[in-house]
Amino acid sequence: MKAEIVAIGSELTDGAKLDTNSQWLSQQLTDLGIAVHFHTTVADNLDENVAVLKLAVERADVVLITGGLGPTLDDLTREAMAALREVPLEFDEPSLAAITEMFLSRGREMPERNRVQAMFPLGSTPLPNPVGTAPGIWMTIPRGTARPPAIVAAMPGVPSEMHRMFDEQVRPRLPVSPQAIVRARLNCFGLGESHTEQLLGDLTARGRNPEIGITAHEATITLRITAHGFSMGECDEMVGVARETIVQRLGAYVYGSEDEELEDIVVRRLIDSGQTLATVESGTGGLLSQRITNVRDFERCYLGGLILPSETAQRRELGLAPDLFSQGGAISEAVAREMAICCRARLGADYAVAITNDRGMEFGADLSLPAAIVAVAAPDQVHVLPVQRIGNRAIHRSRTVKSALNLLRLHLVEPQ
Ligand code: ATP
Repeated sequence: MKAEIVAIGSELTDGAKLDTNSQWLSQQLTDLGIAVHFHTTVADNLDENVAVLKLAVERADVVLITGGLGPTLDDLTREAMAALREVPLEFDEPSLAAITEMFLSRGREMPERNRVQAMFPLGSTPLPNPVGTAPGIWMTIPRGTARPPAIVAAMPGVPSEMHRMFDEQVRPRLPVSPQAIVRARLNCFGLGESHTEQLLGDLTARGRNPEIGITAHEATITLRITAHGFSMGECDEMVGVARETIVQRLGAYVYGSEDEELEDIVVRRLIDSGQTLATVESGTGGLLSQRITNVRDFERCYLGGLILPSETAQRRELGLAPDLFSQGGAISEAVAREMAICCRARLGADYAVAITNDRGMEFGADLSLPAAIVAVAAPDQVHVLPVQRIGNRAIHRSRTVKSALNLLRLHLVEPQ
């Protein structure tokens, strides 16, 4: 069974709005075992909408539409569906009553224009919208004797209305797929995309089941595992075996799964072991502290963070000796190490993470030198790591913070 998502709206095709509905609907269908093969986005134009729907019902068995169900002249989905089925629009009294009631509950009278939202292609089923004025439309399109009719369901464009209608009205009506699909994500840090692929070897080969794809975002590598089978149990087992094999091949580069970030792992480990953390950062201006304080219960392990943007501030607040800066300037392993040691002592923490200033990209800057240095001071040792510049300033900052968190994570996972 194949599915197609059709997003209708000129605000989507002209770039004013991002089509997030297609992504959400695809995730829902994939979870139901219905494979989405096509996404189509089309402007508010009747002929083009009809052409898109004709093609969709030919090549897909389930077609989910979002948008264009409003009361204005550019809302053309109901007309397009009627033209597709070659039937007229007919008036549905219960839908009009529900729309009138929706206006009354908001203390307003229904404008005449909204009557059009109670018009449905003959033979279709109205789908109630308990949180908005636009009802959805469910209908089937015959495709000759050799194929089952195509299912077409139209839902409002407003994401919250669409989510509720899909959950309550569309999902229960969809055919049950004999296919089960289970997806999982493993997150890695410290390796590039191609290096990861090399270590994974045959695991990422095309056409394999489970399929393993690699995506990268600001130096975090995500491995997306998708297993197809005849039962959830079978898929879960395949995913489990794939996870084990990946961890065997990538070792400590794998740090977490699903939405987990490096800071989640670090904070959890510190809380579990009853240990504390302090931070000091220069070039990243508080980004490290921000990430840590985004984690639930962070205050159980995080004693605080210093933002010291200049050498003067570092000398004043941490008591760093002036001659420390005389050899390598503000971006040296010696400075990073002392920042971490002094921060740990000053805040009385078990661990301190330090990030030096950033070398910048000015004309003439020596790009062979590390752009920043990160350090971790543990009770009995200090780890130091230079970070090379890759990408623009925002990406570089994010990578630097992640590198610092990862240095601490590696120490917590396997202290050297
Ligand atoms: P309503 O009558 O409730 O507005 P509608 O079906 O007419 O429903 P549209 O007018 O097409 O919906 O869109 C309403 C709003 O929903 C748009 O302004 C846009 O912000 C949002 N929207 C529409 N389509 C999408 C989409 N594919 N992804 C994300 N947001 C969308």
